[in-house]
Amino acid sequence: MQLLEERIRKDGIIKEGNVLKVDRFLNHQMDIHLFEEIGKEFYRRFSDAGVNKILTIEASGIGIACITAQYFDVPVVFAKKNQTKNIAGDVFTTQVESYTHGRIYDIIVSKEFLSPNDRVLLIDDFLANGRALEGLAALVESSGATLVGAGIVIEKGFQPGGDELRKKGIHLESLAIVESMDEKTGTITFREQ
Ligand code: 5GP
Repeated sequence: MQLLEERIRKDGIIKEGNVLKVDRFLNHQMDIHLFEEIGKEFYRRFSDAGVNKILTIEASGIGIACITAQYFDVPVVFAKKNQTKNIAGDVFTTQVESYTHGRIYDIIVSKEFLSPNDRVLLIDDFLANGRALEGLAALVESSGATLVGAGIVIEKGFQPGGDELRKKGIHLESLAIVESMDEKTGTITFREQ
């Protein structure tokens, strides 16, 4: 997605540890007009999939998921991140290793909000090693719902998550795929799509 790549080049900051900081427009301050274009693009790519629910993970996925959901006209559910000891009864749960914080946490979704009738699209801001998406996919599987695919705003293509998930047969659509980034020169190259 041209507009997104241009914005990443203009406002993205490369940090150590292969982290791309995009908090000027994506996950701290949020550019709502860009989000609208992102939402429309996800809709264009998944409009035939019969999506009736969008699932994301707190916190950064929520804004993108909500704006995207307006185009699909479906509800958004977000997985909550929880400490193990606080997990209450009627929930689907799995463990996820955090890319940015390095620790393992539980994610939960109430059983009330995912069922075998659902056709679920996953949405998230980043894809790196794929742990967050795998966790969300596991919650969908536990519920008996159908996973129709995953929409990612920025995939870091030099990390293994995207290719692993595609190999598993998940319909993955990433709006920008960063092929490489150089902290010293600030250069970002994107995969041709
Ligand atoms: P994964 O589970 O695929 O390794 O990482 C995905 C999660 O880690 C995303 O939900 C995102 O919040 C965070 N993340 C991974 N890489 C980056 C990055 O380069 N920049 C930012 N801002 N977040 C990232």
